[in-house]
Amino acid sequence: MPQAQANDSAIKIYYDGLRQGVLKARKCRSCDRHTFPPTTCCEHCGSWDLDWVELTGRGTLLFATHNISPACHPRFEPIAPYVYGHLRLDEGITVQAIIRGIEATPEALRAVFERGPVPVVADILVMDDLPVLAFRPAG
Ligand SMILES: [Zn+2]
Repeated sequence: MPQAQANDSAIKIYYDGLRQGVLKARKCRSCDRHTFPPTTCCEHCGSWDLDWVELTGRGTLLFATHNISPACHPRFEPIAPYVYGHLRLDEGITVQAIIRGIEATPEALRAVFERGPVPVVADILVMDDLPVLAFRPAG
């Protein structure tokens, strides 16, 4: 079944990239936009004509908060409570991810908002041998 093989391949390529600290995305040859996390077709126009590209791993933190409920999976318990946020990558892609390097307290989160736009860089976590998309403030 070619469709399933293509999907498995996109997932494997994505996670293999994360293990190496590289964010791999698909870039559409029809509309020139990115799909991240990668899939087998463009999330914007539905085209199957895609290239693999590596993202810069840099972006701007738009919003940050912390989890107030128990970790969503036991693998996250060692880092709970943690901060997660929405960020816009330099390529224009908006993603949600764990944000490292910011304490999960109201005071630390308030300081982030008062600081204004915070540049972030990818900082991949490896938890139970699974790479997890995460970022940290740059500099
Ligand atoms: Zn497209």
